[in-house]
Amino acid sequence: MTDITDSTAGRDGELDVSLRPSLFDDFVGQEKARENLQVFIDAAKKRGTALDHVLFVGPPGLGKTTLAQIVAKELGVGFRATSGPVISKAGDLAALLTNLEERDVLFIDEIHRLNPQVEEVLYPAMEDFQLDLIIGEGPAARSVRIDLAKFTLVAATTRAGLLTTPLRDRFGIPVRLQFYTPEELVKIVRRGARLLGVGMSDDGAMEIARRSRGTPRIAGRLLRRVADFAQVDDVEIINAAIADKALGRLDVDSRGLDQLDRRYLGTIATNYGGGPVGIETIAAALSEPRDAIEEIVEPYLIQQGFIQRTPRGRMLTAQAFQHLNMGVPQGFIG
Ligand code: ADP
Repeated sequence: MTDITDSTAGRDGELDVSLRPSLFDDFVGQEKARENLQVFIDAAKKRGTALDHVLFVGPPGLGKTTLAQIVAKELGVGFRATSGPVISKAGDLAALLTNLEERDVLFIDEIHRLNPQVEEVLYPAMEDFQLDLIIGEGPAARSVRIDLAKFTLVAATTRAGLLTTPLRDRFGIPVRLQFYTPEELVKIVRRGARLLGVGMSDDGAMEIARRSRGTPRIAGRLLRRVADFAQVDDVEIINAAIADKALGRLDVDSRGLDQLDRRYLGTIATNYGGGPVGIETIAAALSEPRDAIEEIVEPYLIQQGFIQRTPRGRMLTAQAFQHLNMGVPQGFIG
């Protein structure tokens, strides 16, 4: 998926770097998570110990990586980042862990994609700050134990349900991130506009915010593209009309849904009478991986009340038919 609203694309792009808040004060929204983290960080600093391990859960682009970096910065410790699929061997993880200093933060993105052998190594590291390594093979193999610095593992996942229970249980601080409200996204868009040096009216910021799928990464991306359209048209201040025109050209509709969202809803509506229909069937019909649909497309559509997950499959709501400009089928109970 290379859509403009694909919140997974360009994670480490220039955009992320320049608009990424580096302290809690610049981080908008997620009030409860932020306040709790601040308390745990202050307590750890007072005690002079490492912060307990933190797990961030939530759809892509909501600020998990950003928060991990802020946690390290607020703790005043070193930050190292990697991701689940990148650590292919136990030795790779061992190399990372043995390089950490006392109280450092190790960030592992997409932790649900860690391979099981690597996960086994992580358990004693998280619990006892020890590494059990097997050296050699066959009868000559022996196990050595290495003491590690007392570090904090900050991990992120889009799907807590895919984590094994022993791994999930080892995080003392689980934090679930929520989609942002339009008002919070307005602040993010305004801050972004200021950093990019583009003029933005209140209604312009609101238009972009409303159509950002509750996701800061998408807000940042839409802001840049709208700013491009404004620049070409020699517009100095982006207002709602200009934002609307640009977003329309980017195929982002009035509720912020992109082409894939609409294809998803349209397929269930036309091919399956509004459901219920199984996720595998939908994935096959759309030729998109099931994971991407579950992680990226569905959470927002559920939150917005366009679909429901039932034991028999996905079902559209009456609101979804309305959004598609289609009548609700007779006898349909959505
Ligand atoms: P995730 O790791 O959850 O996929 P990121 O932390 O990479 O998301 O955030 C994506 C982008 O959104 C970054 O460029 C960051 O600048 C921006 N962002 C995320 N959360 C916020 C926030 N609360 N306030 C301002 N910008 C944010």
